[in-house]
Amino acid sequence: MENIKYEVMKKIMNKKMKNLKYDDLVKEWNKEKRQMIKETSDHRIYRWDPEGMYKILENTGKVITDTNPYVNLVDIEEFDLVIENEPYPVAPPPMNKVKGKKSKGASFFGVMHKEITGDAMYYMKDQMISMERINKEAQGINIPEPNKEKEKDLIKLKKEIFEYAKSLGFASMGVTKVDRRYVSMGVDDEIIFDNIILLGYEMPKEVLDNYPKPKGELGAFGAYTGCARNVHKVADFIRSKGHDCRSRDWGGGIKYSPHAVNAGLGNYSTYGVCVTPEAGTRLKYCSILIDADLPLDKPKDFNIEEFCSRCRMCQKSCPSNSIPKEEKQYKGAVKRQTRFSGCLELMTTSRECLKCVRVCPFSMIGYEQCMESLPQYYMYNLQIDELDKEFLLSKKEGEYIE
Ligand code: SF4
Ligand code: SF4
Repeated sequence: MENIKYEVMKKIMNKKMKNLKYDDLVKEWNKEKRQMIKETSDHRIYRWDPEGMYKILENTGKVITDTNPYVNLVDIEEFDLVIENEPYPVAPPPMNKVKGKKSKGASFFGVMHKEITGDAMYYMKDQMISMERINKEAQGINIPEPNKEKEKDLIKLKKEIFEYAKSLGFASMGVTKVDRRYVSMGVDDEIIFDNIILLGYEMPKEVLDNYPKPKGELGAFGAYTGCARNVHKVADFIRSKGHDCRSRDWGGGIKYSPHAVNAGLGNYSTYGVCVTPEAGTRLKYCSILIDADLPLDKPKDFNIEEFCSRCRMCQKSCPSNSIPKEEKQYKGAVKRQTRFSGCLELMTTSRECLKCVRVCPFSMIGYEQCMESLPQYYMYNLQIDELDKEFLLSKKEGEYIE
């Protein structure tokens, strides 16, 4: 039945797009962009309900973020009250209907997929199936019953979940508490558990090697679809171990970078995403909220920010200037703020730009080699416990230590 449904949809999509040309859509997109930029640039999280009452939310993840030295936040109390949540509003306005006008957003992606993969539904099919299931789960509909026998050894359970997720292609995994300051407006009520498993799906290097003119597969959409295809399998595995859980998508309702950094997967990159030693920035994230108190992973210093501060290749090469040169103070928080609207434009009108990923040494060369290229005295963060201050101070500035 499912297959018939999607075969029919595929025919309709392909027919509808027969006369649409990608370049024409790009032109239309450019016409509308000014309005879109205006609409995306000013999203805030206020925890007020529609009646104007202040909503008080439990926020167990706050302590983790507050004590995490790798999140670059100051004056966190103010940040609590008014969070600036770019680049991920619930749904980017360019993908919504704008003032009664018919949006071309969805066709845009469909046409791109068709031209690259030969099938408008190539990625959409799995994305739609997954999204439908996630939306239903969020409303408490069609959630499979967890097994009656509950795995009580939570260390073992976590290990098994990670091993299973890895076998499905997830490269980076970690557990932390939800910090609701990084949950988008209107999504709070769907986040019914406080423990969150972060899952990072890899964009293979071989796929990125085909850019800037990808053929056959797309890096970002491939990884988003990897999340869509596999996140429910991990959730069902958790249920088979007797625990309740909810899959969450890649759409931005939960901002994953701070959670991934809190879960010790990696550190912030220059453009705000979490760089991991396993795959650099070649990851797209999804998550699972779980009722079990799995052992939490701790934030960890991989010395990545040190390397980034000497690299900044992504910032220098971003064609839309969406990656900021400096951190900025915003509503009490010091943060890097990638301009979502500028990036989205290039990610669609240039068939997934991904230049920031393609120039990143962590993504393309590997963590070990990046670290080897850092002079030893910039490596102190990693050896902070056995830091030989006397030895380091005996060296002149700029002197390399063999
Ligand atoms: S390109 Fe350079 S600065 Fe940017 S994330 Fe990668 S290592 Fe960091
Ligand atoms: S994908 Fe392209 S436009 Fe977007 S931030 Fe990266 S380099 Fe800039």
